[in-house]
Amino acid sequence: MPTYARKDVTFVSGDGVWLISDKQEEYLDALAGIAVCGLGHAHPDVSNAIADQAATLTHTSNIYRIGLQEELGQKLCELSGMEKVFFGNSGAEANEAAIKLARLHGHYKNISEPAIIVMENSFHGRTMATLTATGNRKAHAGFEPLVPGFVRAAYNDVESVENILQNNTNISAILVEPIQGEGGIRLPESDYLPKLKSLCEKHEILLMLDEVQTGNGRTGKWFCFQHTTIHPDVLVTAKGLGNGMPIGACLAKGHAATLFAPGSHGSTFGGNALACRASLSTLNTIEKNKLLTNATDIGSYIVKELQKKLSENTLVKEVRGKGLMIGIEMKVPCSQLVDNCLDNKLLINVTAEKVIRLLPPLIFNKANADSMIEILTKCINELSTAHA
Ligand SMILES: *Cc1c(COP(=O)(O)O)cnc(C)c1O
Repeated sequence: MPTYARKDVTFVSGDGVWLISDKQEEYLDALAGIAVCGLGHAHPDVSNAIADQAATLTHTSNIYRIGLQEELGQKLCELSGMEKVFFGNSGAEANEAAIKLARLHGHYKNISEPAIIVMENSFHGRTMATLTATGNRKAHAGFEPLVPGFVRAAYNDVESVENILQNNTNISAILVEPIQGEGGIRLPESDYLPKLKSLCEKHEILLMLDEVQTGNGRTGKWFCFQHTTIHPDVLVTAKGLGNGMPIGACLAKGHAATLFAPGSHGSTFGGNALACRASLSTLNTIEKNKLLTNATDIGSYIVKELQKKLSENTLVKEVRGKGLMIGIEMKVPCSQLVDNCLDNKLLINVTAEKVIRLLPPLIFNKANADSMIEILTKCINELSTAHA
């Protein structure tokens, strides 16, 4: 079905930061399948792990114990400081689990119709509940009636959340991205999450972080909340977790970790042996190769270089980012840059109409960064000349 406006290019193989088209042309990948392939393409550790597991056992059922799922759950809890995990197959599915936890928490508090505070310009997925949670009217259009039980606040605005909490006694959770990805690489104030956390403690509601995009090393920490000292009650991740193998995880801590019981949630494929093996290999390789440090160093190098090289360009509003999650906000719509960069064999993305989004693999090195910056600045400057 025509749900995607696809670019007319087909990739047939990959090698690290490079993708090779069916015309045997090499493209530098500064998008990593939208923050998925953190280790780049066809990473030997992950490829070998998948091949070995495929030849051993791919799927049994959650009716039985799954050793690799237990191992991955343990590993994720160690890396995040969370306590329990539910595995699904995507970001949306992991968010669905979080939304169900919020409902259970609400009913536990004797709220008959619990609601979740969600943010403007947020993105949480395309299922009916996550679509409703998403703060983008265009994504809603045509799909009404939406799911009840969501109340919208302004992003990076603690007062807007406080106002809702003062007027509504039926709130059971806040669902928020630590950095908005689809919304335009928007970084909140550094005290935003800590302030939300204290509001959640005061009102005994759950702080649920959607780290589908920001997780798994993307911002230079395993999870973006680890740039602060707080802990969420619920943590959702997916994208980069399996380096391309579909997997999502909803992690919980404290009371939130006690809400699900046998029968209250499930997924046939969720956390099967193959997906968990790929994820374990992904996390172990990120750790072994010190890619959190690389993401931090290369990320800040890219931001500094872009700020320097684009400082005279009057169409550029701001260059910002954390780790390898980087945005260049333009003053004008700039989606044509995706095609211009594609013509120059560079893969990037534009989101929220005016924000160039860079999500290169965590293995990006300085030479890769320099090539990307050169093509990107050339294309941005050409766009500006065309605008003048
Ligand atoms: C991509 C994304 C999702 C949805 O993930 P899917 O795997 O496409 O369902 C949810 N939340 C955030 C923050 C995302 O970036």
